[in-house]
Amino acid sequence: MSKQTTLDPSCQDDSDPSSLSVEAAWERIRTDIQPVNGIERLNVRQALGRILAEDIRSTVDVPAHDNSAMDGYALRGADLPPEGTASLHLVGTALAGHPFTGTVAPGECVRIMTGAPMPTGSDTVVIQEQADQADQQVHIGPGHTPGQNVRRAGEDLRLGQTVFTAGTRIGPAELGMLGSLGLVEIAVRRRLRVAYFSTGDELENAGKPLEPGQIYDSNRYTLYAVLQRLGVEATDMGVVPDTPQALETAFRDAAGFADAIVTSGGVSVGEADFVKDILDKLGEVGFWKIAMRPGRPLAFGRIGRAHFFGLPGNPVSVVATWYQFVQPALRRMMGQAIVRPLGFRVRTLDRLRKRPGRTEFQRGILERLEDGELVVRTTGSQGSGILNSVSRANCFIVVPHDSGPVAAGDYVEVQPFEGVMGG
Ligand code: AMP
Ligand code: MG
Repeated sequence: MSKQTTLDPSCQDDSDPSSLSVEAAWERIRTDIQPVNGIERLNVRQALGRILAEDIRSTVDVPAHDNSAMDGYALRGADLPPEGTASLHLVGTALAGHPFTGTVAPGECVRIMTGAPMPTGSDTVVIQEQADQADQQVHIGPGHTPGQNVRRAGEDLRLGQTVFTAGTRIGPAELGMLGSLGLVEIAVRRRLRVAYFSTGDELENAGKPLEPGQIYDSNRYTLYAVLQRLGVEATDMGVVPDTPQALETAFRDAAGFADAIVTSGGVSVGEADFVKDILDKLGEVGFWKIAMRPGRPLAFGRIGRAHFFGLPGNPVSVVATWYQFVQPALRRMMGQAIVRPLGFRVRTLDRLRKRPGRTEFQRGILERLEDGELVVRTTGSQGSGILNSVSRANCFIVVPHDSGPVAAGDYVEVQPFEGVMGG
């Protein structure tokens, strides 16, 4: 029963009334987790990928002064000719970092480059392509607007304005903005400590030949990758054999130092009893059947003060349960405002097989048709052991709980992998 084939004939399991819907499972996880304690002050660059522990207010106007948005001539708007041509006297030059220190009087202009502060008296820039300069005379035609091509002081950020609120993840754009404020140090949440391991007597480590019945461990590589991207302090505890002694030792060790423990394998019905006994002894863990595919079994609870996420062993189930539950939960523990996978609707080019009574996370390939429409195709066989379906995919196709098969041409929800979920 726990070993699903690609055809999954066990539809009885999916309509099991004790199954939790994806939303109900998420709701239970969400209400149980809190951000961990611990704040540190870091140099702004070191804070990349971290979660802000304080609101950031602007200490300056950005930009600090009115400045030119273009290369051209700074002048008084009142001198622009409504018709005909105005001839202005050129009195100096303003460069970024080298302001013009005089005043622009009526009938005068200053040569100005992008980013240079607007000289006193001037309020308008005419771009160089629309002016004729002959010696110290600059000729300007009609059609300009007073105030044009000027960036106003504080138009990006105003002194005292809240720039970021606590809980914001610092990505490239945030880092750039922190730089523009001239900040040296900021308060961020400490890194989350996550221990992870694989369970299964059939698993062999890379570098050793496979004996009959053995397979190489792939889940630990997948988890390594997603944990790295998330920016946590991850501890790889290796492969733990399916023996009570080994598992108990591993869980105790992990709970001794980690905020969260993520494992794969050993939570399906056939194996759960065994793991259950150990976890009953060490903590409070629920073994759930979730009405989703892939990823039906999931264990969630506490071991000591660590949160425990016991993912199914099937490699695709690991990916699906990671994205739907574990990553949003860990983000919450890291102190981030909750970000669940973002979806949008597109048409499917293929018919999608689907049984009512479970949410399916099928692997899809988003592509653009010649007319510009974004559409999705299936990667084909949706067996939960087929990890290459994830690698060929660039999105999940989320087929809702009550839906049956989806006809080609119908709209479906997709969750793109990169940027939205990976970022
Ligand atoms: P389990 O949830 O332990 O019953 O495992 C379900 C399926 O996933 C079995 O076919 C396992 O061999 C496979 N599996 C479990 N753990 C891993 C792993 N770390 N890497 C690759 N396959 C795995
Ligand atoms: Mg197993």
